Amino acid sequence: MSNAIRTYKKPRYKPEDYIGFTMPNGDMDVDMRNHTSHLVMCRKQHECWNCGATIERYDHALGEKGFLDGEPVNCWTCLDCVDEYMDMMNGTINQDDMFERWKKRYEANRDVR
Ligand SMILES: [Zn+2]
Repeated sequence: MSNAIRTYKKPRYKPEDYIGFTMPNGDMDVDMRNHTSHLVMCRKQHECWNCGATIERYDHALGEKGFLDGEPVNCWTCLDCVDEYMDMMNGTINQDDMFERWKKRYEANRDVR
């Protein structure tokens, strides 16, 4: 009988690299004020807004917050998505690859639901 210990995903970049980091909003033309973002450890379960993956309790994620049309908003992006975006900005993968991976994951997560 195995009693597996869940392994936590580790961010691949330095914590300071995530400060002020903004995920691309696609075609959304949003008026976001007071936007802040940094690496957070989630105290409860969240869903990655980008790919729909479940971000488990105590996993790291990119936490973004700000005011959208005067309303406070919070969103979380899983490490896979944010690190792939970092990779793309560093030139390790190209943008098409990145979007392809996001799409695959999004579709896989949608099928699960
Ligand atoms: Zn994600």
